[in-house]
Amino acid sequence: MVHVALTIAGSDSGGGAGIQADLKTFQELGVFGTSALTAVTAQNTYGVSAIQSMEPSIITAQIQAVKEDFAVQAVKTGMLFSAEIIQAVAAELRDSGIPLVIDPVMIAKGGASLLRDEAVDALKSALIPLATVVTPNIPEAEVLTGLEIKSESDIERAAEHIMALGAQSVVIKGGHWKEAPFAEDLFVGSEGTRFSVRSPWVDTKDTHGTGCTYSAALAAFLADGESLPEAVISAKCFIHAAIENGLGIGGGHGPTNHWA
Ligand code: PLP
Repeated sequence: MVHVALTIAGSDSGGGAGIQADLKTFQELGVFGTSALTAVTAQNTYGVSAIQSMEPSIITAQIQAVKEDFAVQAVKTGMLFSAEIIQAVAAELRDSGIPLVIDPVMIAKGGASLLRDEAVDALKSALIPLATVVTPNIPEAEVLTGLEIKSESDIERAAEHIMALGAQSVVIKGGHWKEAPFAEDLFVGSEGTRFSVRSPWVDTKDTHGTGCTYSAALAAFLADGESLPEAVISAKCFIHAAIENGLGIGGGHGPTNHWA
């Protein structure tokens, strides 16, 4: 029987990130994708030109409609934009027992803010404690922890900090460390599980939507019944292939390849 995943995220009209990337990734990985739209962005590979967020009540209604009809096996959250939206989403996910991947989306590569500054506290207090796994990149981990990350031990401290917020596990994605020959991610889970997973650095400008695609792949592998460590490794392989096989479309930061 086909497995079902739900993405709660924003729309990217350019199709490379957000809910479009999530649904394409679910489809590619053989998982039936459902969605609750949190915001609409007018966007292409050059950047974001406009944002309109949804009313929290319509976001709640979308999540409830999906949950009432489908046995959802994994949920991921992406762009949530405001504290009100985060509270509405958290209310629907609390006590659901469904594995939850939180991609703490904050700033798009072009610089647009996809999460209001005042919403960071709500993300930390209301949503992260519900997470099966949180997937920050290094700048996002710095905002969540208040730490300046300059070394591997800083990454480990940041992971522990995020676990202390109540998350069951965390993957800190090291792809923003430009000097690295590898894109190395640190996984820290409950009961002391801890490992790094690395792939060769790919020198490309076509990295739009990598965070969304990675967290969607992680949710898809969890929906398919993989254990969390297995899903982290599978998602890393998927995102590496997606970056390596970039499509070369759009004049700015092009999309990763969701058919990878
Ligand atoms: N637009 C939306 C709607 C997103 O959810 C995301 C996710 O991070 C982005 C844009 C960011 O894309 P980029 O990879 O270019 O930072």
